[in-house]
Amino acid sequence: MEITNLQHRKKKLTQLLSVLQREEDACCKALYEDCKKPEFEAYISEVNYVIGELKNTIKNLSSWSKPKKVWSSIINFPSSDYIYNQPYGKVLIISPWNYPYQLAIYPVIAAYAAGNSVVLKPSELTPETSDLIKKLLEEVFESNEVKVILGGAEVSTKLLAQKWDYIFFTGSVAVGKIVAKAAAENLTPVTLELGGKNPCIIDETANLEIAARRIAWGKFFNAGQTCIAPDYLLVHESVKEKFIHQLKLVITKNYGDNPIQSPDFARIINLKNWDRLHNFLLNQEIIHGGEIDKSNLYISPTLLNTTSLKEDVMKEEIFGPILPIIAYSNLSEVEEIIFNLDKPLSAYLFTTSDKAKKYFTNTFSFGGGCINDTMVHFTNNNLPFGGIGNSGIGAYHGKYSFDTFVHKKAVVHRANWLDIALKYPPYKDNLKLLKKVLKWM
Ligand code: NAD
Repeated sequence: MEITNLQHRKKKLTQLLSVLQREEDACCKALYEDCKKPEFEAYISEVNYVIGELKNTIKNLSSWSKPKKVWSSIINFPSSDYIYNQPYGKVLIISPWNYPYQLAIYPVIAAYAAGNSVVLKPSELTPETSDLIKKLLEEVFESNEVKVILGGAEVSTKLLAQKWDYIFFTGSVAVGKIVAKAAAENLTPVTLELGGKNPCIIDETANLEIAARRIAWGKFFNAGQTCIAPDYLLVHESVKEKFIHQLKLVITKNYGDNPIQSPDFARIINLKNWDRLHNFLLNQEIIHGGEIDKSNLYISPTLLNTTSLKEDVMKEEIFGPILPIIAYSNLSEVEEIIFNLDKPLSAYLFTTSDKAKKYFTNTFSFGGGCINDTMVHFTNNNLPFGGIGNSGIGAYHGKYSFDTFVHKKAVVHRANWLDIALKYPPYKDNLKLLKKVLKWM
């Protein structure tokens, strides 16, 4: 179903804004209950992030929705040509557990703002947050506008068996492939926001103190359970020891000598992921951290000295507070490692060399990233956010979100006051004439 009335959509989104603002504390509390997410992290990366995007959407929706006039083709003279924003219709959104509030609600806002009706299936692994999302969205929207269906993979499977006009999925590569297959049955367009192994390079010219601070923040935010967290480090051998020293200092400064007691360090989502992460630590050279507490789903911020790509920790996305550090001596080693893995969602470089910056942006293919920081590209809604290759299809944020959920419908409005006979049969000498005209143009 399409929700064609723009004023109605704006009214509903404004209503949603006041509900979400009213429930800020409840959202942070639910996120803490589900994943022990520190309130500061919950607020900046989920609650306030959604409110910012919602305000931006309400402010710009009228201009985004307007048909766009484009230059006409001389061949069609006289005409006026427009691109119309056609909502797809019925949109299915499936979201993950790591930012369970933001990654569920924000695509709903964007899809609804664009004029679609939406069914959302949030993560089953964050029940407090998913229940709250359902309650809040149901307070604002009619069930034929936005509906929330709770449940796990079996519910997703049933939903995917239905025919949708658009599917927006955020989650793992493995489930992304299941979604893509289901969508292909009906040739339904998809956005797939997936993950991958995000490289982070620290070259010999980098400011090591700043690099350590920004990398520790990006890696241990939400205990490393972030799709755009640096997954592994490639450090020039000449600065490796100095850099590791800085990194250890920052970790201790941020989380204390015993991070299990820090209110600012999150926990692993469940036992299955804790076991998976724990296995990465076995038989590794741990150079910092490595403390575990299974009953608390705790793994401390951990640095590994990694020399072989054959280690399990280098074979899949880590998605936890474990950071392998690999030394390199020349760029061909960096290329070999990065090119050997699937195209990542993000990549990072720490350097002060302009040549290195150019090399990085021109050489590697990745969804998005930063030079001299980690993760912050996510926060600028003038930048599209999405993956490439195995890390995803499509992008959103800001106006890119609106554009994701509309088909760009091209319409030529021809005038009737002139109808040049050149294109109509019988063609006779028309081709000659046409060629002359085209040459002249
Ligand atoms: P997941 O793929 O296991 O689950 C995501 C959603 O899919 C959940 O709602 C789940 O119920 C559903 N699902 C699970 N199995 C299914 C199946 N067989 N059929 C249909 N639906 C199924 O992902 P996750 O563990 O919740 O999230 C972690 C992954 O998400 C990581 O790989 C991470 O990189 C990625 N991620 C990507 C982004 C991004 O924006 N690109 C953001 C966050 C997380």
